[in-house]
Amino acid sequence: MGPLQIKELLNTSPEKQTVTLKGWVRTKRESKNAIFIALNDGSTIHNIQAVAGPGQFSAELLQTVTTGSCLKITGQLVESLGSGQTVEVKIDDIFVYGTADPDTYPLQPKKHSLEFLREIAHLRPRTNTFSAILRIRHALAFAVHQYFNDGGFFYLHTPVITASDAEGAGEMFRVTTLDLNKLPRTEEGNINFKEDFFGREANLTVSGQLEGELGAMALSKIYTFGPTFRAENSNTTRHLAEFWMIEPEMAFFELEDNMDLAEDFVKKVITYALTNCKDDLNFLQNRLTEEEKSKPQNERSLPLLEKLSFVVDNPFERLTYTEAIEILLQSKPHKEKKFQFPVGWGIDLSSEHERYLVEKHFKKPVILTNYPREIKSFYMKLDEDGKTVRAMDVLFPGIGEIIGGSQREEDYEKLLGRVHEVGIDPQNLWWYLETRKFGTAPHSGFGLGFERLVQFVTGMGNIRDVIPFPRYPKSAEF
Ligand code: ATP
Ligand code: MN
Repeated sequence: MGPLQIKELLNTSPEKQTVTLKGWVRTKRESKNAIFIALNDGSTIHNIQAVAGPGQFSAELLQTVTTGSCLKITGQLVESLGSGQTVEVKIDDIFVYGTADPDTYPLQPKKHSLEFLREIAHLRPRTNTFSAILRIRHALAFAVHQYFNDGGFFYLHTPVITASDAEGAGEMFRVTTLDLNKLPRTEEGNINFKEDFFGREANLTVSGQLEGELGAMALSKIYTFGPTFRAENSNTTRHLAEFWMIEPEMAFFELEDNMDLAEDFVKKVITYALTNCKDDLNFLQNRLTEEEKSKPQNERSLPLLEKLSFVVDNPFERLTYTEAIEILLQSKPHKEKKFQFPVGWGIDLSSEHERYLVEKHFKKPVILTNYPREIKSFYMKLDEDGKTVRAMDVLFPGIGEIIGGSQREEDYEKLLGRVHEVGIDPQNLWWYLETRKFGTAPHSGFGLGFERLVQFVTGMGNIRDVIPFPRYPKSAEF
């Protein structure tokens, strides 16, 4: 369907057959004997080289063939004598679909900073770096669906608009059709949401989990993979206001099964990328190596592919929160008061603590379990001691938390107790609570932030660079 993509042409054996190329010019180089056009259509990191004779085309036409312009080239596919490619195209004809004035086209063949590229998010997919990231992102998304499909999971579409604050996670984006200049009021003077579109307060979802649980209580194994919204005003390299979350939820899974699934899942999708995105990963690896040249030897990280293979080939370290606190209390940075935040049983680990455990102490991914109940969500199953819950966080080098999950409380009375304890009105969650009344079952699940996974696999330092059009405080332009 459609013309052959450049990726396919580069793998076609050259027999002087006539081919058509369509794509954007990366570079044009003129020498005494020939004109070389490097064309890319986004199907691969590699360009195809098209060659014309010196007097073959008018200066007028050639002037419009500049970086960023879009061309149709017909010619013959021949063996390339130059280094770096096996085939090239001997040009018969050039048609210019669209020019790109070199005086105003912002993407010139030189190094642009990632910050600058964020300001031209409408064009950055045309760079090598971003096209590589977007292809890898696609491959990972595909691998996610394949993994769950093969494992007997069903893809459940949970709502984007919700009336329940899933985790008391707060920080939600409101959805309303009320006129903000003329808000309807109740007799007490509050905003009257009965007049709003849904007849109640509504928000964009922060997680599909609660609805996911409803699905698991019928289909046994489900997963969601959809957009998630958090209005947290955090300008970090790991938070977006809109991100994609993958949330499997499984009936008859206990915490151990949940951990086994999480570990197997991330390993398999990373393996998929290693197998299917070699060229793009190699490109990003070289980019990172280049970037790190300015750092002293001992501060440089493992080459990207080695890092990914390492994660795939080694078991994750599993330990309890309590054990982790012990390690942190014994650690050098704690003893030398180098941590910014204090360490002690009951604290919510901050990213410096997580990174110490993963990057300094264990030097591999870590799964922390059995957190204090006070710092985790109401739906997590209480441990026998009543102090901790069956939570699990998967922590990755350079990223911190990549997965948060738990075994869910399946006991109606205990769950209701927790709902009251954290101050949620049970009326708002009546449907969720009913799953524990009617045919309750042990079950577990987790949430993986898709962009954090893409960040890990691509080695990108900032989460804003692994989603096509990032949403973060004061930014929603494109
Ligand atoms: P963090 O402590 O890093 O903010 P969290 O505890 O709020 O994460 P969860 O509510 O458990 O995270 O969400 C599950 C997963 O979703 C996280 O493990 C992470 O991978 C991802 N995630 C959470 N918040 C964001 C965000 N703002 N942007 C991108 N991914 C996120
Ligand atoms: Mn958060």
